[in-house]
Amino acid sequence: MSAQKVRIAWIQGGAAKCEILPPLPSRLFRLVLLGAPGVGKGTQAELLCERLGTCHLSTGDIFRAAKCLAEGERSPALGAALGYMRRGDLVPDQTVLDLIRERTGCIRCRGGFLLDGFPRTVAQAEAFAKIMEQEQIPLDAVLNYDLPIEKVVARLSGRRTCPNCKAVFHVTALPPRVEGVCDHCGTKLQQREDDRPEAVRVRMEVYEKSTKPLTDFYQQRGLLLTIEAEGTPEEIYQRTLTALGSARGGKLRHPSRTNAD
Ligand code: AMP
Repeated sequence: MSAQKVRIAWIQGGAAKCEILPPLPSRLFRLVLLGAPGVGKGTQAELLCERLGTCHLSTGDIFRAAKCLAEGERSPALGAALGYMRRGDLVPDQTVLDLIRERTGCIRCRGGFLLDGFPRTVAQAEAFAKIMEQEQIPLDAVLNYDLPIEKVVARLSGRRTCPNCKAVFHVTALPPRVEGVCDHCGTKLQQREDDRPEAVRVRMEVYEKSTKPLTDFYQQRGLLLTIEAEGTPEEIYQRTLTALGSARGGKLRHPSRTNAD
């Protein structure tokens, strides 16, 4: 398996090292991804990483991996962070920044990086800018996936999941063959509690309040590229390449080499 998929150094932190280094990309990308829940940021992260050969560095993945560790194997700070995560709160900036500082090797990685879920607050963004300055590493761009709130509500509130095999459907965009029944295992589909329209609106409010100021922060620094997140994943991906290409003053084509090469 490639270093991109395993990301040992990112997931474990400290002295952990990736056994296989990512191949030297034809173009190096150091990017931050922003976007509200439901804009399709995760799908774009997957496409970008797979096709540009960049490592997907998600802070949420660090916490999810820590959840699987025995209590004695987690640092006290990481243990406390999981409490915040369970309640749906943001983990304190100091804890998140300590984790990032432990992982500056990933920021220096020759494959570049795609940060997802960090920075999440202006304080984190300011501290991250200082780390990048100390490391003398420039950030190429901040990709901000944008979708009107009504569309986010429609996307998330139409989502149905299978409690058995975890398959995901959508009442209009990706309906199952038989309404309300999983195509793969025949189980009755469910709606996640936090996908109900009332809950989605609350999640959006939290996002607007804590994360939206980040777009102003990066706009002021000339790094923000806002991408319309409507259409198919492929259309949005092509829009992303166009935006990155114009930011670099030239057309950026989809690279023929993938990480699997
Ligand atoms: P995510 O997968 O990015 O939605 O993250 C899942 C959870 O991890 C969040 O709801 C937070 O509790 C926590 N988390 C992830 N990244 C951060 C961050 N940069 N700052 C604070 N909390 C975070």
